[in-house]
Amino acid sequence: MSDRVHLIYNPERECMSRDELHAWQSARLRETVRREYDNVPMYRARMDEKGVKPEDIRSVDDLRYLPFMEKTDLRDYYPFDLLASPQSEIVRIQGSSGTTGKPIVAGYTRNDIDVWSEMMARTLTAAGCTRDDKVQVAYGLGLFTGGFGAYQGADRIGAMVVPMSSGNTQRQIMMMKDLGVTMLCCTPSYATYLGETIREMGLVPGRDLKLKAGCFGAEPWTEAMRQHLEELLGIDACDIYGLTEIAGPGVAFDCLEKHGMHINEDHVIAEIINPATGEPLPYGEKGELVFTTITKTGMPMLRYRTHDICSLTDKPCECGRTFARMSRITGRTDDMLIIRGVNVFPSQIESVLIKTQGVAPHYMLVVDRVNNSDTLEVQVELTEEMFSDTVGHIENVRRYISEQIKSVVGISAKVTLNAPKSMPRSEGKAKRVIDNRKI
Ligand code: ADP
Ligand code: ZN
Repeated sequence: MSDRVHLIYNPERECMSRDELHAWQSARLRETVRREYDNVPMYRARMDEKGVKPEDIRSVDDLRYLPFMEKTDLRDYYPFDLLASPQSEIVRIQGSSGTTGKPIVAGYTRNDIDVWSEMMARTLTAAGCTRDDKVQVAYGLGLFTGGFGAYQGADRIGAMVVPMSSGNTQRQIMMMKDLGVTMLCCTPSYATYLGETIREMGLVPGRDLKLKAGCFGAEPWTEAMRQHLEELLGIDACDIYGLTEIAGPGVAFDCLEKHGMHINEDHVIAEIINPATGEPLPYGEKGELVFTTITKTGMPMLRYRTHDICSLTDKPCECGRTFARMSRITGRTDDMLIIRGVNVFPSQIESVLIKTQGVAPHYMLVVDRVNNSDTLEVQVELTEEMFSDTVGHIENVRRYISEQIKSVVGISAKVTLNAPKSMPRSEGKAKRVIDNRKI
């Protein structure tokens, strides 16, 4: 039992019984499939090809008969051919940097902005936000969904919003201190950078700042990184997940139990599939996360393959919410590195580095191929204390990291220890991998 106080923004929805939810989802799924079939020629063709008619989809249990959608669809039908509403109904465009290539854009109707704001209001509330809080938005405000999402959620709650956008670190900290900011929204890598800079400026979080919680997401991070951030900033660090195609941040969020992110299941249906075969997998098994939006009208997504890897559970949570939870994202089907035949996820290496004394959580993985054999180099930064230590200790750190990587990941890596502050800092999504192999 935990003694946490759990605030819930919309208990009627967030705590509905699983049976009620099933009926709710089924009704909205039917409407969404009909809307998509009637308005999006590409999806109608895909359903016809599979021999599926809208009336065949009667409940959530029939979801598996629907064809998938993919990121490539957003590129192929760029910018407006996936809209299920007239362009005059679209009140916002958001886009993704396209970590994996050309940008993609999504159109939102007024209804969709409302849905997204509600999801983000729930997210911030779960981290402890009320109208008395001051929320600093240090996610980029622009086409990227992070900034607007956090802004809308805090605004919906009626909190005081400080829309800083990303960057300008010194000024961020000045505002945080002067305004008495209580909640921070940014990527975990930027939170690390902010935390370090706060310390360097001689500020002590519990004494000079009023921060109590952070909603960090938009990129993968580990439990070890959570602990690091909680100590560095003296806060509850909550994970928040989302993607442009589905809404933006707030699709799923940590409650203060912090053991899996509750999915806003009255707005999206989540499935886990085997990425190789497309077959749905039961709760508890790890696979690729697939989402179906059931309340969006601008650009609904049916069985959208995220390529993010995680597992789901519908076990009850102490907080009282009934929404299923997703585990942390342990990798993406497309950022999984295959090095000498071994599957390697950057998150595995991050967890080793964060548990290592003497290195800072700034790292880069460089993969190459030398004499037909793959090589992995792990570059990581030493802390000031370790850097000024004797060479003997530094060698121990290097050996320790190599051994740990070997035991956790199963391959040997070259470990390069860099001087403090020599590696690039990220203000948005961190880039952690350079793959120089010519495939
Ligand atoms: P892009 O990264 O292509 O610019 P988005 O900004 O929409 O597109 O990012 C969505 C992706 O970011 C997700 O599919 C997921 O891979 C990653 N992501 C978002 N939030 C999290 C999180 N909390 N943990 C891990 N990965 C996340
Ligand atoms: Zn919970």
